[in-house]
Amino acid sequence: MPRFRSILDTMPGYVPGKAVVGPDGRSFKLSSNESPDGPLPSVVQAIAEGATQINRYPDPAAVRLTEAIAAKLEVPAEHVALGAGSVTVAQELFATIAEPGAEVIYAWRSFEAYPLLADLAGVTSVRVPLDGEDHDLDAMAEAITDRTRMIFVCNPNNPTGTSIRRDKLVAFLDRVPQDVLVVLDEAYREYVRDEEVVDGLTLYRDRPNVCVLRTFSKAYGLAGLRVGYLIAHEPVAAAVRKVIVPFAINHLAQVAAVASLAAEDELLERVDLVVKERSRVRETLIAQGWEVPPTEANFVWLRLGDRTLDFAAACAAEGIAVRPFAGEGARVSIGAPAENDAFLAAAAAFRAR
Ligand code: PMP
Repeated sequence: MPRFRSILDTMPGYVPGKAVVGPDGRSFKLSSNESPDGPLPSVVQAIAEGATQINRYPDPAAVRLTEAIAAKLEVPAEHVALGAGSVTVAQELFATIAEPGAEVIYAWRSFEAYPLLADLAGVTSVRVPLDGEDHDLDAMAEAITDRTRMIFVCNPNNPTGTSIRRDKLVAFLDRVPQDVLVVLDEAYREYVRDEEVVDGLTLYRDRPNVCVLRTFSKAYGLAGLRVGYLIAHEPVAAAVRKVIVPFAINHLAQVAAVASLAAEDELLERVDLVVKERSRVRETLIAQGWEVPPTEANFVWLRLGDRTLDFAAACAAEGIAVRPFAGEGARVSIGAPAENDAFLAAAAAFRAR
């Protein structure tokens, strides 16, 4: 028997959102915060054209995609680093700071990959409990030690959907030592409508230890192709580019992401519809008697405590997959209007039990 690292004995592993099928064959997947819409024809065409070249390795530096991202965000191309999904970029970030004794701070509950990636990298997790559903930035600042090498701030937070306003985040960043990397995980940035919720790109510019993590998986609808990126000052971006697995961003992912940026207006119209549906879903849930924290992401959070798994099972029985966190609550993605209607009906029925 090979000898494995002992950390594998205690690592839970990532539990992905699963699809379920209802009695009538209905299957609404509201468990992974994906875009409800299929790819745009222009993106499908770019993939079809790209498919003719897949006997060759992809461009290892993903030059066209890097330049397209840099142009869109008005940052230098040297500030862009890529990964096969932003979760892989996060793994690359861990690879740049992992050393015996290193600590990473993040709120909990937050994105489930943080503890997993920390364990994999041999970095000690320091989890700071949420204050209600929000980041407790004071407690996170107090948790900094001379072993802290990185801090994740998930804004909006997965799974609670809550977000951090500019003044609070600025005050927090001012308390972080310059040799600690702060990663603003903005996977859901395109869904933010509250103008007080700070755009990390406005903060990283004059803060060399702050970087911004984004993805093509949500608003851009490319979850299946795996493209994420980091915007960071040159030393951080260069370190990430150094640790990336060679050829990690495949050719089809590169061309699809470039085509998506070219079709951004159309994609952002879809995001507007999700945002409208988010308001409708939240308001309807509140009218049904649920407490739903304000959300700036493409999902809502229901704190259900010990009823969480029952709720998920009741939704599954209707062919609706939600994301339960046992004993805590359920996260439900905003889907297409008919999917949301089905979820709202299931939620109403559960309350009436
Ligand atoms: N960050 C957050 C906060 C997320 O919720 C997710 C996906 N659930 C990711 C990063 C990773 O997304 P991807 O790897 O698809 O880019």
